[in-house]
Amino acid sequence: MHCSTPDPRRTPRGTPEPHGGRCTCGIRTEGARARARVPPMIRFDNVGKRYPGGHEALAGVSFRLERGEMAFLTGHSGAGKSTLLRLIALIERPTRGQVLLDGENLGRVRRRRVPYVRRRMGIIFQDYRLLHERTVFDNVALPLVIEGHPHAEIARRVRAALDKVGLLGRERMLPVTLSGGEQQRVSIARAVVHKPPLLLADEPTGNLDPDLSREIMELFEQFHQVGVTVLIASHDLDLIRSMGHRVLRLRAGRLDAAGLPERVA
Ligand code: ADP
Repeated sequence: MHCSTPDPRRTPRGTPEPHGGRCTCGIRTEGARARARVPPMIRFDNVGKRYPGGHEALAGVSFRLERGEMAFLTGHSGAGKSTLLRLIALIERPTRGQVLLDGENLGRVRRRRVPYVRRRMGIIFQDYRLLHERTVFDNVALPLVIEGHPHAEIARRVRAALDKVGLLGRERMLPVTLSGGEQQRVSIARAVVHKPPLLLADEPTGNLDPDLSREIMELFEQFHQVGVTVLIASHDLDLIRSMGHRVLRLRAGRLDAAGLPERVA
């Protein structure tokens, strides 16, 4: 019989597994066997990034983020959090090592294929990056318009995304008429409208007060609960602690504990 010690690591669907998939008896659970076959959503192998003329933003970074996992990336200002996310989003390229997305080596992705790889992710920024002269509907529709979906399908999917973030009924409004928390919800709706398996967020609560920050994190938690892989850069340690997920901590471009993910107690 497998041991019953609960482990904070969870399967993509949120089911706890004993000892992260391996019992004291050494037998692999079903989840561990499945993970051995399926590549992680993100894998960094000894990644370094040196900006032209700058110092090393990342050095020797190795970790994996499993499919369906939710994790936080933390560290001081300038520690390399944005750089790490930008490498996954193909906004920057590493100067050393490999970044793999769902088993694909991003170093081999040619420039013209970058937009197609980016369709596999939704990206959320601290400053929302909304088009202020466009309605909420148009902002959320943007990724689907770029992909060339039929109008009726776009309308249906935009409403579904706005419903998920609690903003149905605000479609015709301009972003400036919304609160900061609502604007961030619009940017999250835009990030999820094409149903990407991966969400990346760079300080998504940086401009929000504690109550709104918690609401936004709970929204990410809801996407995690339905199987989306979520990686959030944040330096709000109190909020991170209360969420109970794995924490990767960067210090001056290096992951703590020789690249092993750290858990916040
Ligand atoms: P964080 O997100 O943790 O604040 P960043 O990834 O933004 O950290 O930055 C890490 C380091 O890389 C910092 O020293 C920063 O000044 C430097 N850096 C970031 N972007 C660039 C760039 N485009 N050119 C040169 N240096 C950069």
